[in-house]
Parts: sequence; structure tokens; C-alpha cells
Amino acid sequence: MSNHIHTNFVMTVFVVMLIFWVLTTVAGLLSLLIGLIFSDRRHSEQGCGKCGYLVKGLSGLNCPECGADLREVGIGKPGRSRRGFVVLGSVMIGLSFLFLIFIFILLAANA
Ligand SMILES: [Zn+2]
Repeated sequence: MSNHIHTNFVMTVFVVMLIFWVLTTVAGLLSLLIGLIFSDRRHSEQGCGKCGYLVKGLSGLNCPECGADLREVGIGKPGRSRRGFVVLGSVMIGLSFLFLIFIFILLAANA
């Protein structure tokens, strides 16, 4: 009976790990894809120093995206958000590998 409970527990952990692995893999690949697609557009335009929104040709002094005063946050190269996507994607892929290793350990321990 205790063996039956143990098997159920392992199966639950296995399924949860599998779901996490799929989620982190999909989220990681999507984030990397978004980050890489946007980084292909290497414009010389300048963006809001806070959120990276392109402010070229803007008449006001406030970012229309985040409302920050451009005299305070400054104007830098756009793309802070896409760098975030690449970092997020890398972290997600890393996590998915950890889950994958965990799944293999779980399978090996119960083979
Ligand atoms: Zn902004």
C-alpha cells in the first residue's frame, strides 16, 4: 500500500516536472525569438532611457509609452526590453534543462 502511494507521488512529481519543462521551454524559445527578431532591426533611432520606446520625431518631452520625463531618464539606444526578452529566454531555457535533468533522474531512479 505504501508502495502504491509512493508511485502516485512520483507520478505526480513527474507530471508536474513535465508540465514545467514544456512551459519553460515554450516560454524560453518564444522570448528568445521575440528578442532576436527585434534585435535584427538595428536602427540608429534613439529611445526612451527608461523603457526603450522610440522617441524619434517626438514633439513633447515625455515618453508616450511610460510617461517618463525624457530630460530626467535621458535618451538612449532602444532595446532595453528586447535585451530583457533574451535574458528571460536564456533563464527559461536554463530552467527547462534543469527540469529535464530532474525528469531523467526521476525516470532513472524508478526504472
Ligand atoms: Zn518610456
